[in-house]
Amino acid sequence: MPQGPDESQVLTIGDEVTGAFRCAECDLLVTSPAENDGILVLPPCPLCHSGTWRRAGV
Ligand SMILES: [Zn+2]
Repeated sequence: MPQGPDESQVLTIGDEVTGAFRCAECDLLVTSPAENDGILVLPPCPLCHSGTWRRAGV
């Protein structure tokens, strides 16, 4: 079930994001760093090499 507009949003490689994200394929969690204003540029998933991320619930 989608939890809301933000949680159901799909993001892809190269998107600049802040917060926590899970791989759409394997559910790996990544979080934005404390430096660089907390901006994370989404990478390919290091586990399954998927390019699709979803915003984590927290
Ligand atoms: Zn993955």
